[in-house]
Amino acid sequence: MTPQPNPQLGAAVKAADRAHVFHSWSAQELIDPPAVAGAEGSYFWDYDGNRYLDFTSGLVFTNIGYQHPKVVAAIQAQAATMTTFAPAFAVEARSEAARLIAERTPGDLDKIFFTNAGADAVEHAVRMARLHTGRTKVLSAYRSYHGGTQQAINLTGDPRRWASDSGSAGVVRFWAPFLYRSRFYAENERQECERALQHLEDTIVFEGPQTVAAIILETIPGTAGIMTPPPGYLAGVREICDRYGIVFILDEVMAGFGRTGKWFAVDHFEGVVPDLMTFAKGVNSGYVPLGGVAISGAVAETFARRPYPGGLTYSGHPLACAAAVATINVMEDEGVVENAARLGADVIGPGLADLAERHPSVGEVRGLGMFWALELVRNRETREPLVPYNATGEANAPMAAFGAAAKKHGLWPFINMNRTHVVPPCTLTEAEAKEGLAALDAALTEADAHVA
Ligand code: PMP
Repeated sequence: MTPQPNPQLGAAVKAADRAHVFHSWSAQELIDPPAVAGAEGSYFWDYDGNRYLDFTSGLVFTNIGYQHPKVVAAIQAQAATMTTFAPAFAVEARSEAARLIAERTPGDLDKIFFTNAGADAVEHAVRMARLHTGRTKVLSAYRSYHGGTQQAINLTGDPRRWASDSGSAGVVRFWAPFLYRSRFYAENERQECERALQHLEDTIVFEGPQTVAAIILETIPGTAGIMTPPPGYLAGVREICDRYGIVFILDEVMAGFGRTGKWFAVDHFEGVVPDLMTFAKGVNSGYVPLGGVAISGAVAETFARRPYPGGLTYSGHPLACAAAVATINVMEDEGVVENAARLGADVIGPGLADLAERHPSVGEVRGLGMFWALELVRNRETREPLVPYNATGEANAPMAAFGAAAKKHGLWPFINMNRTHVVPPCTLTEAEAKEGLAALDAALTEADAHVA
């Protein structure tokens, strides 16, 4: 239930925020962060009585929605018995979380190193790969996002890297497959896959395979546009890694824990098992910060009799781990992963395809589960994006108008460049899915006005 509006309190919250909170990724004086009063399930509301259906899952992390009573109760119970304890001890919540995660990760990814979030999981995965191989270079994709700490932002291909790129020591970037905007002049998925693999292998050969420690890929790139790789690509990367003794890191920070309608996105690609797999976000729906690296037997062996030189004060924090245990149990008991798969296949996917037919601004719909992107274009033939790459200010006006219209219709949309991502909680109901599709339908009319 949405409580009584309280605009006065809302104004005070906003005033203190404006005075003292320094916000991520923002020009501090050019933003106006909405004040959120509360949230439940798939919705949140402000102090003025506006309620929004959250098609962003926060930052794609509330996979079980807001304020799930069982997870809230588990956090309360953990706080009552052991709020915190240092990482060098065996703690029930921590060992149970590790067991539940290891049971669900593919292959022999059976050891879990806990971090505070996704970026530090990537940092540690890379460090493990370098120590395991004795090599330094890491290959990452241009269309990628791996986090905001220094090594993670260097590995990121997305333009958010530019301002903080410290010369990207040891990082080499490559083009991963993306047929809609193919870098390989490919006409179909098979060609895109073959040529992308050839390009990757050529890159390794010219870099010197003996210098390459790891290849890092998001299993299904998220922030960069939700691009499911063509059949055979990840298996091909696995083969290349094996051929040259390179560690294969899959980043499942966004795509993991039910988002794609399976526990992990890699489960869609039979037989593919990375050497290291990063996770965060959905592991406990972001109720308490938590991330980690799932480690294969071979990499774990490197540190069996030699110390792993790295750690974090809050590694495997009991509150975060108790939230993870409760979240995983809720996902299992309530069929959350199955719900994401079914709603994606039967409602969201067909609904978005229908919108694409009726709205000329939609160039492509792609995705699966609760993980979809609409690519908005000025012209379907040329595929010219609706706003220029990395647009800001006036140049971004068409996407801003789309966003404002969605909010007017009670939908909080995820917008990145010329795309809107449809990434609601995996607990979404069919009625909520339809409500969101209707709001998108109305908002896309704004985008259509800019089609040339
Ligand atoms: N990897 C991927 C694939 C991500 O999507 C993100 C966050 N969007 C990160 C890493 C970084 O995670 P965090 O913000 O929790 O550090």
